[in-house]
Amino acid sequence: MYDEEITSFTRERLVGLESKTASSNNFIRNIVVEDLAAGRVTEVVTRFPPEPNGYLHIGHAKSICLNFELADEFKGRTNLRFDDTNPVKEDVEYVESIKQDVKWLGFEWDGLFFASDYFGQMYERALLLIRKGLAYVDDQTADQIRENRGTLSEPGRNSPYRDRTVEENLELFERMKKGEFGNGEKVLRAKIDMSSPNINMRDPVIYRIVHAHHHNTGDAWVIYPMYAFAHPLEDAIEGVTHSICTLEFEDQRPFYDWVVEQCEMEATPRQYEFNRLNITNTVMSKRKLKALVDEKVVDGWDDPRMPTISGLRRKGYTPEAIRAFCREIGVAKSYGVVDERMLEHFIREDLKLKAPRTMAVLRPLKVVITNYPEGQVEWLEAENNSENEELGNRQIPFSREIYIEQDDFMETPPPKYFRLFPGNEVRLKHAYFIKCEEVVKNEAGEVVELRCTYDPETKSGSGFTGRKVKGTIHWVEASQAVPAEFRLFEPLINDEDDDEDTSFLERINPNSLETLQGFVEPGMKGAVAQDKFQFFRHGYFNVDSKLSEPGRPVFNRIVSLKSSFEVPKA
Ligand code: ATP
Ligand code: MG
Repeated sequence: MYDEEITSFTRERLVGLESKTASSNNFIRNIVVEDLAAGRVTEVVTRFPPEPNGYLHIGHAKSICLNFELADEFKGRTNLRFDDTNPVKEDVEYVESIKQDVKWLGFEWDGLFFASDYFGQMYERALLLIRKGLAYVDDQTADQIRENRGTLSEPGRNSPYRDRTVEENLELFERMKKGEFGNGEKVLRAKIDMSSPNINMRDPVIYRIVHAHHHNTGDAWVIYPMYAFAHPLEDAIEGVTHSICTLEFEDQRPFYDWVVEQCEMEATPRQYEFNRLNITNTVMSKRKLKALVDEKVVDGWDDPRMPTISGLRRKGYTPEAIRAFCREIGVAKSYGVVDERMLEHFIREDLKLKAPRTMAVLRPLKVVITNYPEGQVEWLEAENNSENEELGNRQIPFSREIYIEQDDFMETPPPKYFRLFPGNEVRLKHAYFIKCEEVVKNEAGEVVELRCTYDPETKSGSGFTGRKVKGTIHWVEASQAVPAEFRLFEPLINDEDDDEDTSFLERINPNSLETLQGFVEPGMKGAVAQDKFQFFRHGYFNVDSKLSEPGRPVFNRIVSLKSSFEVPKA
């Protein structure tokens, strides 16, 4: 009955499918659809299996979206499973950050598991293999094992310990477990075929000795299963139907299937491999990102320049933008590097109508409006988003002293410069026309102040048509301006030019962060962490969650306003 329901539900889904673009760029989804239609599976069960050895990055987001969205679409289940089989590199801090990131992306896991919860079951399956004559304890060193494994063109050589009896293997494995041997003194290997064309099938190591404290199991174990052995067992134990991983595991698939079969697991998960996400001008590996943190190139895993999910969040990315990006890049088997501007495209799209459009001066230059009455402040009406009326209006103050952007003034302008220069008139956004009358300099000859006049007739919204000006600039009224810090970013890592050998640490961009002190409108005094704005002409900004102080916000630039980049048509 239950099965029938699922199948008819699936058929319904199939009908609607033709019109959905998602199917065209996600081959794994097509497999799931076929599996459901053919009755090979009745419920889709996926998992996201991070190793808690670092913070998640945008590459993981691709895998998270893929696993959760596939299961969600077909009313299946997705587990969050920590692949914590390596006690040395793993940490509770990472476990917590990973949970937070998955939730923040908008997904809810069905089960929360640790591979280490299954250490007992894995050990039992290893014993089963030994009893079946399919695993043996090897005394060779890691180097000897590697040497005897052979190459693509040469078969491997059998270990001298390969023919140990079942009894001997059981006894030695038991002693390994008891901690009688040191790290690396012995390993347990699957007994398959030392001349297999697939090197992964040449008696892979399935258990090793590590005398180390484990974040979850403490000191209960000194033998730990190898990833390639543990992973298929974890999947099978949880009843995962589609075990999705990146392409480098393709050659592991025969061993994956071997483990499931020979360990006599009830469920038969299947592994599918897809292309990992790479993005220009960054690195996408926890190991490398950890190096950036450890070397203090950045101020932590959540530094806004990092491609980590926490870094993107702190920079100001939204879950919606990241999910839309992941959907757009699709899932395939082909290798490729995605242009970082594609990610930027999606945050612009997401914030375009959501973010209020306000004014911020990043590099302030004081302007005194000499014919404006001293001591007077007037409040001007400004729309919050010219493309989205729902965001309403706000009032901004205007008075005799304002700040404008330093580069909105030039003493000797080039042709076609329409902003302020001596004798020229411009429009102040939401306010009046002003004309530059006089330039004040300090002893070093730098411009420190402009003296301008304004024309009361030209008030914004008054319908003034007397004359036109070519430039519109933004500004902030000085007496009520809120001091703010602005952090502008450039890529952290420069892409290599054909020089594959240059370490990423040597390709660090020394100018990846620029910090500026300027002002924002008084209405933004109460801005809180993660509030997002579009600053006129400067781009989208987010209130930094770590550096901001009450009354003195720090803004991270998420992205500038425009890019020449267009999302490629599929
Ligand atoms: P890293 O080298 O960054 O640590 P990993 O593959 O070792 O990556 P895991 O924690 O083992 O990281 O990964 C969890 C899941 O995320 C795996 O299924 C893995 O295939 C997937 N994944 C990791 N990096 C990417 C990427 N760049 N693109 C897509 N999926 C990825
Ligand atoms: Mg890893």
